[in-house]
Amino acid sequence: MRIVDVRATPVTVPLKRPLRWSFGVEVTTTRTIVELITDEGLVGIGETRGGDEIVRAIELHRDLFIGLDPLEVGRITRRFSVFRMTSEQLALVGAAKLAGTAVEMACWDLVGKILGKRCGDLWGGIERERIEFAAYVFYRYASTTEVGDGDRAENAADHADELFDLYGFRDIKFKNGVLTPEEEIRSVRLMRERLAGRLRYLRIDPNAVWSVETSIRVLNELADYDLEFCEDPTWGIEGMSLVRQRTPVPLATNMCCVTFEQIPLAVRTRALDVILGDVHFWGGPSSVLQLAKVCETFNIGMSLHSDRELGISTAAVLHVAAAEPMVSHSIDTHLIEQADDIITVPFEFRDGRLDVPTGPGLGVEIDQDKLRFYHEYHREHGEASEFADAMQADFRAKFPKF
Ligand SMILES: [Mg+2]
Repeated sequence: MRIVDVRATPVTVPLKRPLRWSFGVEVTTTRTIVELITDEGLVGIGETRGGDEIVRAIELHRDLFIGLDPLEVGRITRRFSVFRMTSEQLALVGAAKLAGTAVEMACWDLVGKILGKRCGDLWGGIERERIEFAAYVFYRYASTTEVGDGDRAENAADHADELFDLYGFRDIKFKNGVLTPEEEIRSVRLMRERLAGRLRYLRIDPNAVWSVETSIRVLNELADYDLEFCEDPTWGIEGMSLVRQRTPVPLATNMCCVTFEQIPLAVRTRALDVILGDVHFWGGPSSVLQLAKVCETFNIGMSLHSDRELGISTAAVLHVAAAEPMVSHSIDTHLIEQADDIITVPFEFRDGRLDVPTGPGLGVEIDQDKLRFYHEYHREHGEASEFADAMQADFRAKFPKF
């Protein structure tokens, strides 16, 4: 069997409400959906973050996978691994690296379809059929025209209530670094009070917006609220290490350690307790499985990161979590904040969990009507948002770095 063609389709799907984080406001997600076509008519599907630049990268690097057998997925992944370079070079090779993750995903989907096996079984064997997620809690604006009460502690606490009631979560990942630290501490207190008896683990993620001193002060104040961990309180491995020496709260990252070459310094400086793997940032599902072995070696915990993926990447994430027991913290998802999906049977949360798909390969299929619809939406609206730009400017003016 040979891969004879590829279709790469950028799509933009709106979020239900604008989500705030320390970099600004997000109102959509833009992804590229990859379909690999074989000479026997089988189609494998993959997804990655980003739009038009990914499509260009796939066209440019067709020779890395066209003409190969999808069963040579390791060989194809190694060809793309030339783009898994150091963090400084990421800006140059980012699109090609991310394109490779969608191609790898689509190859695994094909391998599963050829062998009649699920991806999780190909990746070592499915250990669990249901995967637990944390409720992803944000400060949200009411709409793209109304701010609402998005500047108050209650806004995030209300979101937590809503997610627990609707989807049965037990854990919270609270995206903060948006309001003043005092107002955000008040949000944490409200969540602990209102969800007492229902809330198990609570983690926060200010996305590196705090200084080292602010991180130490805030985390020591939050120690009373039993944080599971804090993701990226401050910038860089050295900064994280300084914070970790002076707080009892475990630290996690999906920002300062996102490539293999960053791991030695992070381990040497005792900067991290938990790494959030990401099937795109790290270079594909097989890279996250390699990362799990490294984390096991150095006694680093693991969770999995979400960057507003749609259903195909969510399926890949579920198979990784199902097959890799090192992923022991509940994992991230934006799925419940997205207005729609491009797969035929969208995922539904029960008890804060999703079922691992049962079909061969990734176990999900593209809804071609929706793919066309959100491709058109992407062409009309692109990735830019005037609302997000305006809110971002407003946010920067109001809250410079603490
Ligand atoms: Mg994070």
